[in-house]
Amino acid sequence: MVASVDKPPSLWAATAPPGGDHPRLSADIEADVTIIGAGFTGLRTALKLSEAGVKAVVLDAGDVAYGASGRTGGQVNPMLPFNTPDQLRKLLGQTYFERLTETSLASADELFSFIKSYQIDCQARQNGWLRVCHNKRALTAARKGVAEWNVHGAGMTVVEGGDLHKLAGSTAYDAGVVTPRGGAVQPMSLARGIAAAAVQRGVSIHGRSAVIDLEKDGGKWIAKTAHGSVRSDWVVVATNGYTGDLIPKLSGTILPLTPIQMATDPLPGDVIDSVLPQGHTISDSRRVIMYARKEPDNRMVYGGFGKLERSGEIGGFDWLQKDAERVFPQLKGANWTYNWGGRVALTDDHLPHLHEPKPGILAGLGYNGRGVAMSNVMGRVMAERILGADADALPFPTSPVKTIPFRSVKMQGLGTAVWFMRLLDYLETR
Ligand SMILES: Cc1cc2nc3c(=O)[nH]c(=O)nc-3n(C[C@H](O)[C@H](O)[C@H](O)COP(=O)(O)OP(=O)(O)OC[C@H]3O[C@@H](n4cnc5c(N)ncnc54)[C@H](O)[C@@H]3O)c2cc1C
Repeated sequence: MVASVDKPPSLWAATAPPGGDHPRLSADIEADVTIIGAGFTGLRTALKLSEAGVKAVVLDAGDVAYGASGRTGGQVNPMLPFNTPDQLRKLLGQTYFERLTETSLASADELFSFIKSYQIDCQARQNGWLRVCHNKRALTAARKGVAEWNVHGAGMTVVEGGDLHKLAGSTAYDAGVVTPRGGAVQPMSLARGIAAAAVQRGVSIHGRSAVIDLEKDGGKWIAKTAHGSVRSDWVVVATNGYTGDLIPKLSGTILPLTPIQMATDPLPGDVIDSVLPQGHTISDSRRVIMYARKEPDNRMVYGGFGKLERSGEIGGFDWLQKDAERVFPQLKGANWTYNWGGRVALTDDHLPHLHEPKPGILAGLGYNGRGVAMSNVMGRVMAERILGADADALPFPTSPVKTIPFRSVKMQGLGTAVWFMRLLDYLETR
């Protein structure tokens, strides 16, 4: 089974309420801020700016949530991935360690309260996130992580044995960590909801409007598309895993990876009730992770990592279905109606990056697969910067645009590395 990385339908696109009309840009116009990318990052920036009376224009090569935001697992996970508190402190220094830790731990709460205050109907639920451990070493690391992060207010707990089996509705893992602030959204509904709120407040959004050139003209930036342009004081680049060559070397700061997902038809009540009975989202600690959730309409959504072929197609769905049946044997025989994938951006230090490569240009990207909550934070923060916040006062340090060392070698090895890591995971889990 293969799917195209650039083409829906995802379950989200098929089941979200219709989005607004976002016509192609077909004139030369002026604004205060041009935002490139209509995912969570760009939309949240636009909405925040519009509330302050700043005129923002959003341009997307596809449409609202064409990229990862409309294809995501939609798990709202509040933790930064991979780094321990000690590693983070070393990477960031004490001041940014404190700011980013506080911001990331609060990021899920921030998103859920944002959704509530704008009354966005996106099936938002904050039932907690269960991260299960695939072996004893992972459990040891998880116990240490819980102790270290709880000092900073993470509020996580370790759950083991029968208690874990009950929470997960699965006996495939024997221990895990519950992060109570985690949850889930219908991501396409969320993106369309933010877009509608932004449009209501005066933001213009243009789909089918890929920015092909950015140039300076006097004190202004001009973002050119095939059929028009926007002249503005500021440009926000919010292109994450879909980043191209508009800003020199920006694409070199990330490694794009291709997560994939599958969704079943609505399942019989007894089957769906037996899976994640308290409505947690779930992911695991393997190198090539799985992540899953169940839906209000009784579907199961299961995700993992795919392999991007040269043709632009992605594979890995056969493996994914087998893995879903390994974790939840009650899903055997289910109809997996939807399969899709998208692009995420990994950074070398596993941190989201905020750049200000030239005066008047901001770029925020690199959420390392945890972007649902964090991209919304980044959007808010970039708007605050434009509204006058000092660059040194933000939760993210403003870092130089630096190409990942040996990036082209790493890019070439990515596909093989995923399959190799999958083998290691399998051997370690047996
Ligand atoms: C399959 C999958 C599962 C995921 N699961 C989770 C999860 O469960 N939890 C979690 O926290 N994160 C998850 N993520 C990551 C998360 O979805 C992303 O980090 C987040 O959506 C990024 O939002 P964004 O707005 O920065 O970028 P995107 O939503 O990717 O938007 C970038 C946009 O830029 C546009 N663009 C690019 N170049 C141009 C140009 N030149 N001109 C105009 N437009 C341009 C693209 O068309 C695209 O719409 C997942 C991602 C994928 C793909």
